[in-house]
Amino acid sequence: MIEYENLNNLNKPLFEEYKTAFSEVLESGWYILGNKVKEFEKQFAAYCKTSHCVGVANGLDALNLSLRAFGFEKGSEVLVPSNTYIATILSIVDNDLQPILVEPDIETYNIDPKLLEQAITPKTKAIMVVHLYGKVCDMDPILEIAKKHNLKVIEDCAQSHGAKYKGKLSGSFGDYAAHSFYPTKNLGALGDAGAVTTNNEQLANRIKVLRNYGSEVKYYNEIVGVNSRLDELQAALLLVKLKYMEQITSHKRELASVYMKSLKSDFIKPKEDPDYYDVYHIFNIRHPKRDALKEYLLKHEIKTEIHYPVAPNKQRAMQSILNTQHTPIAEEIHQTTLSLPISYFHTKETIQKVVDVMNTF
Ligand SMILES: *Cc1c(COP(=O)(O)O)cnc(C)c1O
Repeated sequence: MIEYENLNNLNKPLFEEYKTAFSEVLESGWYILGNKVKEFEKQFAAYCKTSHCVGVANGLDALNLSLRAFGFEKGSEVLVPSNTYIATILSIVDNDLQPILVEPDIETYNIDPKLLEQAITPKTKAIMVVHLYGKVCDMDPILEIAKKHNLKVIEDCAQSHGAKYKGKLSGSFGDYAAHSFYPTKNLGALGDAGAVTTNNEQLANRIKVLRNYGSEVKYYNEIVGVNSRLDELQAALLLVKLKYMEQITSHKRELASVYMKSLKSDFIKPKEDPDYYDVYHIFNIRHPKRDALKEYLLKHEIKTEIHYPVAPNKQRAMQSILNTQHTPIAEEIHQTTLSLPISYFHTKETIQKVVDVMNTF
């Protein structure tokens, strides 16, 4: 069986280093906001080429606190891609704001800058871009529109660690960038973890205060905050994996190139463009008979996933919030997309096997 993902196999090469990191935290006797969190924040900011990083508990909180930091008036509108993972939209709803869905470009699967301006109203306060599947959005026109209309830009970088657009790194474009280190992400922890990056010192401090009960000085609370701290142990483990990010990214890109080179043209493959350095958190193809293809691959012992089977505005939880918004492009993607195996532990030979079976479909 060719698995889609296997976290034990994924992390096995790092077990010894993880054990050392665990012992260091265990023996330090300091388990919350200690030196490992500080060191990870420093190194991850350097990795993203941003001046600041603040560790938080998970990716959803990173999105949530980024919005909360601006204190937008209740009911303000936030533009968000109609095909994103539900977390991006939940962060908007959590803040009593209204998500306004903007359709993606059918070739890049990222928010279509051409559709942004028509979605802007006097209530619009921010654009949340999502670098889906590991490809950065077309940021030049997005930043230009944001500037023209005085909108904040928040990046959802959960799937895009190390990805670049015109040489510039994911996580360094927006007022804030939210990162998830959920175990399956390219930079995955061994539990929940997240971070916010920014180039603005004041904005970074705001997240630092918000994540720790709204308190800067212990037992003195300046604002209403939450408990959303990056765990010291997860920070120690992330410091280990961060060292291997170049390796992880280049291996995944090599696996992607096997698919790109050898998959027959019946499958719609991801778009490649010299302006974009993609990290393939997910390698998806599209096919009109997606469900039959998934079934066929499983019969040939190949596991796949669907990211995602249901568009956000078709989710029951979103019925009263989004259901008047029509998103035919997102629905087309949700009906035809299939994610193929592309984990760090897979080899080029394994991927070639997947290709060989796919090409007989
Ligand atoms: C994983 C993911 C999140 C949420 O991250 P968590 O750490 O699980 O909260 C948000 N947005 C996108 C696009 C994701 O893929």
